[in-house]
Amino acid sequence: MRVAVINSGSSSLKFKLFNMQTNEVIYSKVVEKIGEKNSPIKSHSQALELIEVDFTSIDIIGHRVVHGGEEFTKPTLVNEEVIEKLEDLAHLAPLHNPANLEGIVVAKKKAPSLAQVAVFDTAFHSEMPQEAYLYALDFDLYEKHKIRKYGFHGTSHSYLLKEAAKELNKNESELNIITLHLGNGASACAIENGKSIDTSMGFTPLEGLVMGTRSGDIDPAIVLYMQRDLGMSRDKVDEILNKKSGLLGLCGSSDIRNILEQEDERSRLAINIMTRRVKKYVGAYMALLGRVDAIVFSGGIGENSAYIREKIVDKTLAKEIPILVIKTNEELEIARQCLTFKDSESKNSFS
Ligand code: ADP
Repeated sequence: MRVAVINSGSSSLKFKLFNMQTNEVIYSKVVEKIGEKNSPIKSHSQALELIEVDFTSIDIIGHRVVHGGEEFTKPTLVNEEVIEKLEDLAHLAPLHNPANLEGIVVAKKKAPSLAQVAVFDTAFHSEMPQEAYLYALDFDLYEKHKIRKYGFHGTSHSYLLKEAAKELNKNESELNIITLHLGNGASACAIENGKSIDTSMGFTPLEGLVMGTRSGDIDPAIVLYMQRDLGMSRDKVDEILNKKSGLLGLCGSSDIRNILEQEDERSRLAINIMTRRVKKYVGAYMALLGRVDAIVFSGGIGENSAYIREKIVDKTLAKEIPILVIKTNEELEIARQCLTFKDSESKNSFS
């Protein structure tokens, strides 16, 4: 069985082909600078033509889609109706969903008869209880406008759960763990009996932990103050919160490796603010879960920096709770979910 995974961004297209018998990557390509000034690659469909794979040899294509809203809570076979619904959802994730959809549209055009499945970053969190996903806002904002916590990085948290279950030799459905995906984007997830019951990202991926360039949690009144009193435009505030805040805003670099080398006061402060935030989420999730079987670190920072891990989980706590470091693999998780989808479809068609 050969499963291809497409992660289509606004100016990039990442393609991986897996042999699912061995989980091996048979082929991998990243096409960048799509549509950028002076780039020879003008469109996503042109990018797809650079993939040197015979599409008739692929059994199924999995597409990463960032936002599934409340509608898409599991891997979904792409058809015209699904494409229309995804277009309607674009306003919830304007930076990501239209680009994800572009990848789907061009792949459908190239291989119309091939099964193509959308896998959503939000799906793993779709069973969070209402008390976790509702904000304490006017209820109409949820009912009429679907303003709620959705959570992201779901494929990564779900992969980490599966790998942690293997390492701990337990069933996923018996596991209570805290997963920490710490990369440029970062999120924490409280998993109870194998299900996400809370996560740090929210209505958008801006909420929660201090990230490379995103602020994470702030008092929402700051946004009003920036607009009303400082006269900043909405786009300016958006740019500051998403692209000029986080580690970059605090100390001038978004890359933990640089920051650890810099050794100046602001760099130390940035690390302290970032790790303190993660620690607060770990503490909150320990309180929610009661029993914690493991704390799992992942993402570029979580996988590589023992120093950061120890600042988040000190030695005393690490004596009580197993600490696992697991390299995440979102593409393999998407491919696996496609396979599970295909298996359940063929079972259904026989019943
Ligand atoms: P993305 O969210 O873009 O996939 P990554 O998961 O690759 O990001 O994580 C990027 C972060 O990981 C950067 O802050 C980088 O400094 C950090 N990182 C990568 N390698 C190391 C390392 N060896 N030690 C410390 N931090 C690292």
